[in-house]
Amino acid sequence: MTVDFTQLAVPGVQALKPYQPGKPIDELARELGLDEADIVKLASNENPMGPGPKALAAVEESLQEVTLYPDGAGFELKTALCQKLGIRPEQITLGNGSSDILDFIVRVFVNDGDNIVVSQHSFAIYGLVAKMVGAECIQVPAVDFGHDLKAMAAAINDRTRIVFVTNPNNPTGTWLSRSEVVEFLNNVPEHVLVLLDEAYFEYVDEPDYPDGISLLCQYPNLVVARTFSKAYGLAALRVGYGVSSPDIADLLNRVRPPFNVNSAALKAATAALADEEYVAGTLAENKAGMKQLEAVFEQLKLRYIPSVGNFISFKVPDSTDEHTVYQNMLQQGVIIRPVGNYDMPGYLRVTVGTGPQNEKFINALKTVLS
Ligand SMILES: *Cc1c(COP(=O)(O)O)cnc(C)c1O
Repeated sequence: MTVDFTQLAVPGVQALKPYQPGKPIDELARELGLDEADIVKLASNENPMGPGPKALAAVEESLQEVTLYPDGAGFELKTALCQKLGIRPEQITLGNGSSDILDFIVRVFVNDGDNIVVSQHSFAIYGLVAKMVGAECIQVPAVDFGHDLKAMAAAINDRTRIVFVTNPNNPTGTWLSRSEVVEFLNNVPEHVLVLLDEAYFEYVDEPDYPDGISLLCQYPNLVVARTFSKAYGLAALRVGYGVSSPDIADLLNRVRPPFNVNSAALKAATAALADEEYVAGTLAENKAGMKQLEAVFEQLKLRYIPSVGNFISFKVPDSTDEHTVYQNMLQQGVIIRPVGNYDMPGYLRVTVGTGPQNEKFINALKTVLS
């Protein structure tokens, strides 16, 4: 007799479908027999500028300490975050990427049989972490690809523990104004948590865009998640953080593995926070690249969703489908992301690259669609 280990797995895990990440460059290089240098990856919203010099120097320095466990309390990074954000260290939970924070909050507050509320077309990880603990994920239909916050508040029931709000949202690039977020927070019962995912916070250049951290003092049920994976260019190091009331941070830190953020990540993130030039350069490059991509979608008469992030989703012509275009783009050495499984049939998401990377994407797209 052989054991069917699937039957032994907890029910939430039995039903789980793993997260599908963007295709790595070396994998495509192996599959197509291409040179890695001939491939451009615009699939995971990474920073196309490469690492900042200060962060890179900090990583090199950290190599001297790889025999030692990292500082489990993350003292230096927390100190730097407090200076930058005007918060206190006891409000911070450090994560191995901000994905960790999404996982911790669910493990702390959500029981088997409870539910979380999310928007249609939002980050797949929310549903995954909830299902893992046997919770239901209530998905609220979006309006024009954006969150319908009124409907999300109305969807809360007596088993709802957390509402996930993504601002701006990935993969749609839509955003919520301060008054919309405030009105929503006023409509959420005090005992229901709100996880405000601000992974793309740094990119947004809109006067009415709210800084979630400024809302924490009024809304003790709010948790803000941010990351060093995007604008700070440190996706591979895996570092992000949650900011909340000290009470909630204390609970989140109880489920945090003691050394979840490694020394290189701690040091690099601390240095990256101080490297304003790198972030400013990133934002300028992103703005120019976004214009470049929008112009080509207009030219090719492709529908796209205006985005305030470092990515943009566009619709392939009706004569084809997104998987065909995705595959044909791979053949051209360009990795983008199909988002049909985000309830967006026909759509592909492309990360804004550097000028030359965008050119390569544009040329490939023109070839594929011709
Ligand atoms: C990229 C992203 C994150 C953060 O990912 P980490 O690398 O784990 O920090 C979180 N939320 C959304 C919506 C994202 O797109």
